[in-house]
Amino acid sequence: MAKGALRRLAQAQLEPTPEHYARAYAEEAGGPLPPAPPDAKVQGQGWVQLVERVAKQLPRGGRQWTFARRRDSLQRVLDGSRSDPARLQQRLGSLMTAWETDQAADPAATGLEDVGLPAPAAEVAAGDSGAWGAIVAALAGTLRLALPAAEPDAVALAQRLAAAADAIAAEGATPVQVLVVSELCDEASELLGRGHRVVERLASLCHELTEGLAELTEDDGWVQGQCQRLRAALGSDRSVRGLRAAQSLLAETRQRQRGVLGERLAAREALKRLINDMVREVGDLGEHTGRFQLATERHAEAIAAADSLPGLADVVQAMLDDTRVVQGAVARSHEKLQADQARAGELEARVRALESELKRLSDEVSTDVLTQVANRRGLMQAFEAEAARSHRALADGAAGDQASLAVGLIDIDNFKKLNDTLGHAAGDQALKALAAAVRERLRPVDHLARFGGEEFVVLMPGTGLEEARLALTRLQRSLSEALFLHEGREVFVTFSGGVTTWRPGEALEPALERADKGLYEAKRTGKNRTCSV
Ligand code: GH3
Ligand code: MG
Ligand code: MG
Repeated sequence: MAKGALRRLAQAQLEPTPEHYARAYAEEAGGPLPPAPPDAKVQGQGWVQLVERVAKQLPRGGRQWTFARRRDSLQRVLDGSRSDPARLQQRLGSLMTAWETDQAADPAATGLEDVGLPAPAAEVAAGDSGAWGAIVAALAGTLRLALPAAEPDAVALAQRLAAAADAIAAEGATPVQVLVVSELCDEASELLGRGHRVVERLASLCHELTEGLAELTEDDGWVQGQCQRLRAALGSDRSVRGLRAAQSLLAETRQRQRGVLGERLAAREALKRLINDMVREVGDLGEHTGRFQLATERHAEAIAAADSLPGLADVVQAMLDDTRVVQGAVARSHEKLQADQARAGELEARVRALESELKRLSDEVSTDVLTQVANRRGLMQAFEAEAARSHRALADGAAGDQASLAVGLIDIDNFKKLNDTLGHAAGDQALKALAAAVRERLRPVDHLARFGGEEFVVLMPGTGLEEARLALTRLQRSLSEALFLHEGREVFVTFSGGVTTWRPGEALEPALERADKGLYEAKRTGKNRTCSV
């Protein structure tokens, strides 16, 4: 019968496929015929449609059927039905229906038992309870960190989250637990949203404050300038570093303002004293002239009553003496008043010089007054020049690190403590000494700038990432000796560093953001070290 079946195939010029053979065998045996194999053309069209649906649906992501799930399930269907085209076609069709409706298909009805369907709420895999517990615990931990620790609502929520994680670890992700977690997440969103709103309000409060400050000090150009910079800093950059920069700007402003106020107070007191002196002087003069007038009247009477020449000579002598005394007093007063006037002029000039110095500072010349290294403006100038140089080097096909520009951020470790224990003046001295030490150890082509507070930026042209990290690390090691003496005691200062390389075309700010990540990492992992990003 087998031979007969083969003969039939040969006569009909059919391919010896299993379907054709089965049909020929059944004919030979005279039994019921299996269904005729589908027409190849029809079959081909079915596949074309299916492949089109796959191509269209795969890149889409649904709520249930995310892109990753689509890709995994497709792979599983292909792997599971490789040897059976009909089953493959049927399962692919079911899968596409599930994707298209973004519904979790019924595995039994669709033959997709092994596909790893997204579990509808009621079917969360009980067997994965351990994994679910771990996932919820990790998420709850993160959420707890994000929640404001001081708020009672947040504390209670964090506790309920921890309890939910424990319950899921113990009993699995039951539909009830799914509901509980989803409600907790809603509450957390509400709380976190409140936090964001608080930050927004704080930022606008700072705006108001700086505006008020600027109005109050309308005669002080320097404070005005600082307020403007502060507003710009608050408006454009809400990163932690931006806010820190704004804060140090405020501290700087306050300090300078205190200086100006002190000086003005001293000048005003000095002027007050001068005016008092002058009033006293004029009073004295009046007394002298008053006395002189009385004496003159007395002398006139004596002259009228004089009856002898010697008596008259005595009166004239007394008159001359009185006149000389008064003349002397007038001359002295005149001198004193002139000196006072000159001193008043000096005081006024000093106040004016002080104010114009502050104005000059406000105009942000490119050097930091305290440390005598570049300030932000100086940094921007250096950066623009180095970026242009780097672009030129790239265009010239520079090799190795020649076109590379390393950007480093340096922040003194525990500086607040140094200020608190040794005083602000020692803090200032530390800033000066550190800037000088770093400047001295850098290459002449490198740039050092004070970025604000106790933060410095280093630009290292022609330097790769690792080389820059090593350079800053060497700098850190070289500060093992005391940086300066304070009241006879040695003061040691360390700093942490973050480095990155500038990406051609980008602004300085994003490079600084990356360097700041490195700096944060260095602080986090023990300080007095440098991390690269
Ligand atoms: P960390 O190691 O994490 O960097 O701690 P830190 O104390 O150095 O950092 P923090 O940013 O908390 O403190 C910086 C301090 O620097 C606060 C501020 O009073 C002080 N500071 C900022 N600018 C100046 C300045 O010009 N002179 C002085 N003396 N202190 C300044
Ligand atoms: Mg700092
Ligand atoms: Mg610091």
